[in-house]
Amino acid sequence: MTMQTPSNVAPTKTLTIPERRYPMVTHVISEALFPDMQSEVANCPNCSAPISAPVDRSVWVIDHPHPLVPELKIERAFVDDGGIEFYSFASDGKTFARHFIPTIRYLFAREAMPLEMFVEELASTVVPGLPVITRMITKAFFKARQSKTMNCPNPRCKMPISVSVPTDEIGEEPVVWMVGQAHPLPLSGMDLKVMRIVFVSGEIHIYSVSVDGNNGVRDRVPMNQLGLSEEGMGAEMFCTELEDAENDDEEDDEVDDPSLDPGTQTAPVHDPIPDSDHVTATPATAPATNGQQIQQPS
Ligand SMILES: [Zn+2]
Repeated sequence: MTMQTPSNVAPTKTLTIPERRYPMVTHVISEALFPDMQSEVANCPNCSAPISAPVDRSVWVIDHPHPLVPELKIERAFVDDGGIEFYSFASDGKTFARHFIPTIRYLFAREAMPLEMFVEELASTVVPGLPVITRMITKAFFKARQSKTMNCPNPRCKMPISVSVPTDEIGEEPVVWMVGQAHPLPLSGMDLKVMRIVFVSGEIHIYSVSVDGNNGVRDRVPMNQLGLSEEGMGAEMFCTELEDAENDDEEDDEVDDPSLDPGTQTAPVHDPIPDSDHVTATPATAPATNGQQIQQPS
């Protein structure tokens, strides 16, 4: 037996991508992050050249092409406090990339999980004796669209074609979420029913279950997308909540009282001679608040 030289044996090193774990981020909607981003919207009826139009949002879907680098496939995404991280790689197994979107740039992130885990997660959101959100309105995730006539990009055709493009010119339909009703955003082709809406540290979490009963999803929407929320409750809870709100209001009033606000104590009341340094260095806002309070009783 002859010894093989190392050059004859290609050193094969197989790496295995770590297994997926749940809850798993499957869909993200973010702002369109490149100004010239286009997507194919139609084919020319004359020469079948593909027609592109600007996109208003980027949609990131697991196992689908990366919206900015289509050669890459998105393998995994993770939401944390600062934003969302995407791990993607090319089919040649040679190019790997990680992209990061900060929280202020994304509008929606969906985490999918098996039903068992979903039931546990859902149960952990329940705080007995507190009102629950029954209805909510958020801003539209996609811009309204309008027909626009474009010329076919094929220079030998140039046929005028009407395409639908995102626009700022017409108003947007807000999205209405109702607990116990169908999920309002068609995204994954999965029929979902909204089960619960909760606010969690600056985010809205919407729990929905698939109509076939096999999966659950948690949609995470930053709070700045919220338009309105409604909590339905019984008479007893209503009175308790009202009382709490009254008490909160009193506490707020106490803070508003200038004598309790440490900020006003820095006003230079002991200094009768206002020199020019003082006038510029001391903000006049604190005494002005006092003045308003004194005027009111007259
Ligand atoms: Zn054409």
